[in-house]
Amino acid sequence: MPTTCELCFRRIPVERIDDPAAVQEHHLRPERRAESPTATLCRPCHEQVHALFTNEELRESYDTTEKLRAADRLADYLDWIRSTDALHIRVETSEHVENRR
Ligand SMILES: [Zn+2]
Ligand SMILES: [Zn+2]
Repeated sequence: MPTTCELCFRRIPVERIDDPAAVQEHHLRPERRAESPTATLCRPCHEQVHALFTNEELRESYDTTEKLRAADRLADYLDWIRSTDALHIRVETSEHVENRR
C-alpha cells in the first residue's frame, strides 16, 4: 500500500516514508494530542496548515482532512503543491497566525 498525504494526496516515495522530514503526523485537534485523531501529511502540507491556521481554528473548524481540503485558504496552495513533487518548501507564517501567537 503506497502512503499518500491525506491532504494533497501526493504519493510519498517509499524511501521517504520513515523520514520525519518528509512525512509527519498532524494532530487534528491540537492541544489535545492524547485524544486527537491524527492524519498523515507530507511535510509541506503540515507546515502550510500550521502557517495558515491557529490551533484554535484547527480544533474548532478544521478537525478533519475533509474540512482542511475544502478550506479556501488552502485552495491555491493545494493546486500548486499537486503540480510538484517537492517535499520541502519555504513556508511563511501568515500574519493571521503570527498575530495570535
Ligand atoms: Zn501533502
Ligand atoms: Zn500539525
